[in-house]
Amino acid sequence: MPELIEVEVYRRLADKTVGRRISEVEAPDAWFLKRGLTPSGVVDAVGGATIVGTERIGKLLVVELDDDRPPLGLRFGMSGRLVLDDDAPIVELVYSSRRDLPVWDRFALRLNDGARLRISDPRRLGGVELDPDLGALGPDAWLLTLGQLRAALAGSKAPLKARLLDQSRVAGLGNLLVDETLWRAALDPARPAGSVVGADLARLQRHVRSTVRTLFDRGGSHTGDLHVARRRDGACPRDGALLQRRTIGGRTTYSCPQHQR
Ligand SMILES: [Zn+2]
Repeated sequence: MPELIEVEVYRRLADKTVGRRISEVEAPDAWFLKRGLTPSGVVDAVGGATIVGTERIGKLLVVELDDDRPPLGLRFGMSGRLVLDDDAPIVELVYSSRRDLPVWDRFALRLNDGARLRISDPRRLGGVELDPDLGALGPDAWLLTLGQLRAALAGSKAPLKARLLDQSRVAGLGNLLVDETLWRAALDPARPAGSVVGADLARLQRHVRSTVRTLFDRGGSHTGDLHVARRRDGACPRDGALLQRRTIGGRTTYSCPQHQR
């Protein structure tokens, strides 16, 4: 699924459209428009605008427009892809299909040079909104500081994994990245978030950033070392122990009972 790694790839793709003008807005699926936005509303708001920049906060992609227009927020849910013409940089999404059917195009911008930027989303769990509420998101995981992580976890009795998945605390981490990060940092995903202090906290912060960067360089959230062992009877790639499979934070969680504490 798109986590911040995939959305950063999408952002770099969308950034190629900076300087181009939106000549046509295609919003065939009213359900995909969020927070009161309507098909005619989005046409009025962004039609004719020039794309002046892109930004990513967590899993949210923001497309900035000229003329003081409100920015466009794009979300990709479990299975959404951003495609520029036929350039679809993410070839594998764990919870999605490799096919690309026109009926999955939920939203598209036609640009003045004829290019078309679209969201293809088989499961329809993403969405488009105007002027997204950035205040609802925690600090971005890509450059997460020790102070930011400490503030995100302090005093919380919630399981560590659930806290890291909470986008209002830390933005951008999803199921695969959190499991990989905690496996690398040797921390039990079920322990209370507020119990992670001192050397554990510093190690976690380093591993959040290095895991994001390493998996980005490898090409996606599914390229972690733990990923190949995410199955029943999977063994820890580090020490060979039988992995534990639990539901934590509402998500299927794999961890090693031997080295994650
Ligand atoms: Zn282990």
